[in-house]
Amino acid sequence: MTTAHLMNNYGQRKMTLAKGEGAWVWDTQGRRYLDCVSGIAVCGLGHCHPEITRVIQEQAATLVHTSNLYNISWQERLADLLCQTGGMERAFFCNSGAEANEAAIKLARLKAYAKGISAPEIIVMDDAFHGRTLATLSATSGAKVQKGFAPLVTGFIRVPYGDAEAVAAAGTANTVAVLVEPIQGEAGINIPASDYLPRLRELCDSNDWLLMLDEIQSGNGRTGTFFAWQHSGAAPDVLTTAKGLGNGLPIGACLARGEAAEFFSAGSHGSTYGGNPLVCRVAHRVVEIINEEHLAPRAKQLGSWLVSEFRQRLTDHAGVKDIRGAGLMLAIEMHADCGDLVGLAAEQGLLINVTGGNRVRLLPPLTFTDSQAEQMVKTLVPLIATWQGTQA
Ligand code: PLP
Repeated sequence: MTTAHLMNNYGQRKMTLAKGEGAWVWDTQGRRYLDCVSGIAVCGLGHCHPEITRVIQEQAATLVHTSNLYNISWQERLADLLCQTGGMERAFFCNSGAEANEAAIKLARLKAYAKGISAPEIIVMDDAFHGRTLATLSATSGAKVQKGFAPLVTGFIRVPYGDAEAVAAAGTANTVAVLVEPIQGEAGINIPASDYLPRLRELCDSNDWLLMLDEIQSGNGRTGTFFAWQHSGAAPDVLTTAKGLGNGLPIGACLARGEAAEFFSAGSHGSTYGGNPLVCRVAHRVVEIINEEHLAPRAKQLGSWLVSEFRQRLTDHAGVKDIRGAGLMLAIEMHADCGDLVGLAAEQGLLINVTGGNRVRLLPPLTFTDSQAEQMVKTLVPLIATWQGTQA
């Protein structure tokens, strides 16, 4: 087997994973790893969660796909549950995070249309990541994601992340929405001050803009509440999520409330696969399990412990710039690029991720046990200490 017939769009490690169970994965050589990445914040319940496997099998043997030509009862049940859990009113289901953001951007365009604005603007942030379709890469920050894809979709105005007054200053008569991650994930776990979202909410209220939160990475229990906005109480008008919602099955959701929940009409948006019976039934069980097993508060408690352990053991190391986290969305920021830590950690049986060049990003399953968390600390701390030694 080779990658010869695959396009070259991924910089993959030469490692093939063959099996998973909870927080453990095994490669094709039979080596075992503790997975502190969860498929990039996707397998929040761990790999091959027995109840999720059972539900996949049962639904696969009942009905997988019908298209949206017909009512889909599991889609309706999932919409009810997600809206109750997240304080929203209506849901649109798709197959990925980028598609969920496409839906949100289209809602903002429809708001502009309703207001008679012909050149609408959406305020987006420095260091944002919203996906890789043309509209979402245009909303995303950075030459790396945008290079070669001009002309970009227009109508995105960019301001510094975490600075609500910059948003206030950027607003014009054409502004219709603010699109923002409550915590930036791909940028390396950037956590804004606690008054940031409430201030954005005020600005959106007073200017008649939609507050659109991208919770594709921060949602589904990861940061200590089901959605990250629930830490602040600043409810969005539009919320997008994906990743942890399906525990590995491809599903995205764009949730809305108020006028934004009513903008789509029959034919204005859609997806052949989106919200099929299989993915919706599985996502419904995922949300139930996150709620029933109190996995969000558990993420908060374990995340606080991990941050304090890493701070105690690593703060004095010269190479370490900052240690931060919200629930199980954690980063150890180094002064220098540290991508080689990924391979060094894998040699020690630990899967980690480095993003933004110098940020070790940790996104373990919400079901991580105390002893797995201890093992992560015990393996990673000396590794980072040694790495600093070798770089010095
Ligand atoms: N938005 C955020 C905040 C993300 O973290 C991601 C993926 O990393 C996306 C959007 C895009 O999601 P997907 O890769 O499922 O299209």
